[in-house]
Amino acid sequence: MNSRTPENPNFDIFDRDHLWHPYTSTIGPLPTYKVRSASGCRITLQDGTELIEGMSSWWCAVHGYNHPVLNQAIRNQLESMAHVMFGGLTHQPAIDLGKLLLRIAPPSMNHIFYADSGSVAVEVAMKMAVQFQVASGHPMRTNFVTIRTGYHGDTWNAMSVCDPVTGMHSLFGPSLPVRYFAPSPHSRFDGGWDPHDTDELRAIIEQHEGELAALILEPIVQGAGGMRFYHPQYLREAAALCRRHGLLLIFDEIATGFGRTGKLFAWEHASVEPDIMCIGKALTGGYMTFSAVLANSRVAETISSHDPKVFMHGPTFMGNPLACSVAIASTRLLLESGWQEKVRSIETQLREELAPATALPQVADVRVLGAIGVLEMKRPVDMAWMQKRFVEEGIWLRPFGRLVYAMPPFIIKPEELSFLTSAMLKIVGEIPE
Ligand code: PMP
Repeated sequence: MNSRTPENPNFDIFDRDHLWHPYTSTIGPLPTYKVRSASGCRITLQDGTELIEGMSSWWCAVHGYNHPVLNQAIRNQLESMAHVMFGGLTHQPAIDLGKLLLRIAPPSMNHIFYADSGSVAVEVAMKMAVQFQVASGHPMRTNFVTIRTGYHGDTWNAMSVCDPVTGMHSLFGPSLPVRYFAPSPHSRFDGGWDPHDTDELRAIIEQHEGELAALILEPIVQGAGGMRFYHPQYLREAAALCRRHGLLLIFDEIATGFGRTGKLFAWEHASVEPDIMCIGKALTGGYMTFSAVLANSRVAETISSHDPKVFMHGPTFMGNPLACSVAIASTRLLLESGWQEKVRSIETQLREELAPATALPQVADVRVLGAIGVLEMKRPVDMAWMQKRFVEEGIWLRPFGRLVYAMPPFIIKPEELSFLTSAMLKIVGEIPE
């Protein structure tokens, strides 16, 4: 079926009429743009239009697209096997990736559970925390506390710890487990520390200690829930509270991992190690869905020494060899690429080039951390209009709510980044005040 309209090759009628895109309607969906190919830091649309990529396909494609090293890793692996089950079998890519991850993870991490996606990693982490508490003789400790404006994915438990407003808890009503929410930290990453910032978190933990399995949060950078950067002291205080009251600490590093915030993982900003840590997204350099849940020995051994003495999870595609191979190639490439210098220079350039936005009447706040640049508007943006204007200007960004932000591949050239930021400023300046 040729569903391309002759006048606009970037638009596909079949796609519009039959394919559900993220958070879209089937009756009046926002337009989608058809991609022919992607290479390096550029996306080429069906009609040949080239866009400078400012999203890294939602935090993933840190090396850009169509990278020869990552392509080769998949080709090589394909020659021996695409997949075998992980129940009762193992393979070299899973082992090599495990060794590599433990080398770069917080030192106390010692056990790895491979999972399918970020959301599934969060489910796995939450199940681990509950099984740990049950095994520790606390069968009532099955609930979770988190902070507002967080985002942890779209599956059931992951959704239950997303911000209740942006995660639309009211929509799913009583079918969603009810969690405890502390206010989001208000001490900014680049500002002073307010010692009262953890007061409500402390109050919740003190009051509900007997029913709480863990605190789960995104360390330092809250991504899709609000693109907020908070003070490292918050993590130190939160970790101390967890220790004092017997909660496990779960860090969701799915978005923050692999250099994005200027550290390899965001926990390093605070030197606070979690008990369980989720990674995903850039783990495969954006090539395919894959994630991992890392745990310390206390968690793993406690679960394994009490009935049923096994961790109760095991997805079909667990430890997929293609995903492990490309994850090894991507992680090695990152470690050998001088990523610190690249992220630092992207950060400096974003700071300089986005700073003039503070003077725009449409803009409420400008913030930059690592390779993340955020313009927070005073009002929600008209997504369809803005997306169209970005494409007309030759860049790819996907704003949401009041947030227009860039997190480009680390391989972006300075002139490409300047092109991106100047288009951002131009189009934000066109928004009616
Ligand atoms: N946690 C965080 C912090 C995320 O940013 C995301 C995805 N945006 C997820 C979890 C869920 O990951 P996935 O979309 O791969 O399920």
